[in-house]
Amino acid sequence: MLIDFRSDTVTKPTPGMLDAMMKAKIGDDVFGEDTAINELETMTADLFGMEAAMYCPSGTMTNQIAIKCHTQPGDEVICDESSHVYQYEGGGIAFNSGASVKLLHGDRGRITAEQILTAIQPDDVHRPHSSLVSLENTSNRGGGSCYDFNELKKMRTLCTEKNLGFHLDGARLWNALIAKNETPKQYGELFDSISVCLSKSLGCPVGSLLLGKKELIKKARRVRKVFGGGMRQAGFLAAAGIFALQNNIERLAEDHVHAKQIAEVIAKQKFAKMLLPVETNIIIFETNEGTSAPDLVAQLKEHQILGYAIAPNRVRLVLHLDITKEMVDKTIATLQNIK
Ligand SMILES: *Cc1c(COP(=O)(O)O)cnc(C)c1O
Repeated sequence: MLIDFRSDTVTKPTPGMLDAMMKAKIGDDVFGEDTAINELETMTADLFGMEAAMYCPSGTMTNQIAIKCHTQPGDEVICDESSHVYQYEGGGIAFNSGASVKLLHGDRGRITAEQILTAIQPDDVHRPHSSLVSLENTSNRGGGSCYDFNELKKMRTLCTEKNLGFHLDGARLWNALIAKNETPKQYGELFDSISVCLSKSLGCPVGSLLLGKKELIKKARRVRKVFGGGMRQAGFLAAAGIFALQNNIERLAEDHVHAKQIAEVIAKQKFAKMLLPVETNIIIFETNEGTSAPDLVAQLKEHQILGYAIAPNRVRLVLHLDITKEMVDKTIATLQNIK
């Protein structure tokens, strides 16, 4: 029994999801004729109370398209230094949009309205033009940390006042919604664009959506085509998304309980020095001087447990749909025996 905590992207479709995929009503999506994709887009837009949605192959693509739509070359994007859009999208902000980045030092990936205010460039020919704020909820490098909703509201007000676009990388927004008992509509009201992933905690093989006003999504469809993301009969994949939205959101609470159970045990072990607070499905901890993160990951692998050394002294474990209670029990027993 392989227990794979490397990422929540490793899930494989369940029989129910596969069945839904095989029954998908498809067509050519570049012609706007794929029934399953149209249904998924409408369903997700409605869920968030936003005007329109666009299906894409990846969350990197939805984020990069959003940034392209919100900026002009030479503009500056304000975000936390650990953001996925900055760290893990291949320098796409520069490559795709010709924009630069103003990095803020947030608390576990979360920045504040006050920090944004100080980061906005003055209206001066020497300076880049601040045009977009990009947030991440939950924050991946922040260990699945969630934003406080009141802080998000303050940022919305500020972005309106200063004429900045407000984008959310919500790859794991589903986890935040469940952990904080919030609704998609609350988020739809706040942001100009939201990217959500179906391929992470919701268990789909592929897929992300970009949400926004009709006008933004119209522009985004043009950018998606330029980026090579116009797919044809991709409704087989979209059908997995529809199934996931209907069946796999509420169950995330289970992953959160499991993450807390495992973290509680890790906190008591000698190999662990510091553990980030566990708010959702991600556990990040620092190893003690005596144990490097790759060493610990190798030890776990001997017991068929896979984790990820995200730094020389940091290990990340991610809970997801394919991790059963039985696997959690085995992991806990194994961790208790590691010196
Ligand atoms: C995974 C992830 C994405 C998108 O990644 P893809 O692999 O391109 O789908 C975006 N943001 C965050 C925070 C992520 O964790």
